[in-house]
Amino acid sequence: MGQCLGKPEEKKKKTNTLPSSLEVNQPVSPNDVNPILSTSPVRPLPPPPSSESALVVRALYDFDAINEDDLSFKKGDRMEVEESSQNCDWWMARHLSTGQSGYIPSNYVTKDDDTPQTQDWWYNVDRREADKQLLLPGNKLGTFLVREAADKASYVLSIRDHDNKANDACVKHYRIRKMDNGGLYISPRRTFANMIKLIEHYQTVSDGLCCQLSEPCPKVRPTVQFRELEVARESVKLIKKLGNGCFGDVHAGKWRNTVDVAVKTLKPGTMTVEDFLGEAKLMHKLRHRKLVQLLAVCTATEPIWIITELMIHGALLDFLRKDEGRTIKFVVLVDMASQIADGMAYLENENFVHRDLRAANILVGENNEVKVADFGLARLMQEDIYEAHEHTKFPIKWTSPEAAFDRKFSIKSDVWSFGVLLYELITFGRVPYPGMNGHEVLSKVEKGYRMPKPTGGTVPCPDPYYDIMLQCWKRNADARPTFEYLRDFFENYFVSSEGQYQQEYS
Ligand code: ADP
Repeated sequence: MGQCLGKPEEKKKKTNTLPSSLEVNQPVSPNDVNPILSTSPVRPLPPPPSSESALVVRALYDFDAINEDDLSFKKGDRMEVEESSQNCDWWMARHLSTGQSGYIPSNYVTKDDDTPQTQDWWYNVDRREADKQLLLPGNKLGTFLVREAADKASYVLSIRDHDNKANDACVKHYRIRKMDNGGLYISPRRTFANMIKLIEHYQTVSDGLCCQLSEPCPKVRPTVQFRELEVARESVKLIKKLGNGCFGDVHAGKWRNTVDVAVKTLKPGTMTVEDFLGEAKLMHKLRHRKLVQLLAVCTATEPIWIITELMIHGALLDFLRKDEGRTIKFVVLVDMASQIADGMAYLENENFVHRDLRAANILVGENNEVKVADFGLARLMQEDIYEAHEHTKFPIKWTSPEAAFDRKFSIKSDVWSFGVLLYELITFGRVPYPGMNGHEVLSKVEKGYRMPKPTGGTVPCPDPYYDIMLQCWKRNADARPTFEYLRDFFENYFVSSEGQYQQEYS
């Protein structure tokens, strides 16, 4: 995969432009695919970073080498990174303690400085998300994070506490104010030169807060991007069959015995290798926390394999129908709707149409996290297969009238499908338009019929929720809401605003 995934050859002029958040990865060049490491001769390592063009980074997570020229490190280790390699997923680095050099995944490190944004406890989240993260099972009393306040002029320290009256965990929020001289305080009676000093203080003593700070709220380790889009089949071990979809089987597997992956095998003839590779390069560039990441492909021989991140609870549709899923509350369903709309808002912004949005194509991870999967694949199905599915698996009940009749697929036809997905969520995976076949649905919907508000389910469907479903099913595609609107609607469903901060500070 071009120089971006591998080692950047050319040294650029030093610009010192390493962003404070290093999580944004540049897309790979879609035009060139390198042979994989195991089949290519061992590549000589480029020289280690030299001090004039290097910046120091700190590890946010442990990393064990996957390739022979990777550099392993532990959380907190410091490394020097070659400036000219910083526009890639993988950077050439030298370990400052051991002196060893090698490639490191750029999304595992952050700039090593004293700003709040590069610390373990910094989160780019709002109050609602802070509450959600801190209340996750497993976090103990005093788990904390720091975030920017809604007014952008101050910070907030959010702490997990215990509400004795309710006998349940709760979250307290303290405003951290800035002083003109750059200092900070929660209580004016004790000021600090910087945020690190402030946090260190409250880690040793509660000093008026609800409790002493314990651990920074743990972050999920990001997915390691592969160095090449094309990988050798032998480097991927299939471990367990997870299911079979309309394209072929899906297995859980391991890449290089290290990275957990899902492997989708495409039935030969489902799509041409050329078409698929073109689309795969596009899909590989799409990166968002709410999209299932395409990691690599095997296309040298058929069957094509698509390697993606593994989502441990599988498809949302099955999850909703099973015991574990059936017990989830309305607030979690709304949160899932907001996560899906978030992923789709990213696709909307990238002008990318999903074409097959439904609960079967949403995958579930830990703690009710959901991600959008299978984007872009429907477009690639060979026309005859596509047609054949019209009477069998082609998801007519999720397809907007203009897409079904005129093949006019757009982000607005995705919005229609999202409305049907909302029905699947609130009914815990009921088949939409119960008792009707696809053709009946098409002709009735064309005449103005819409599914009524679902009743009799374990969770009642509130009017505002049903109303947004109806908005997604407007006949005029342009009158349907955007995904950005839908995301905001579900994020703020329970009217969350930056409420009161804790005042009880002695
Ligand atoms: P479909 O064609 O019905 O959309 P897929 O081929 O995408 O189905 O997947 C079939 C099944 O494999 C899914 O229902 C899900 O249980 C499982 N699966 C697919 N992708 C993943 C993944 N990335 N992680 C975990 N399970 C997956």
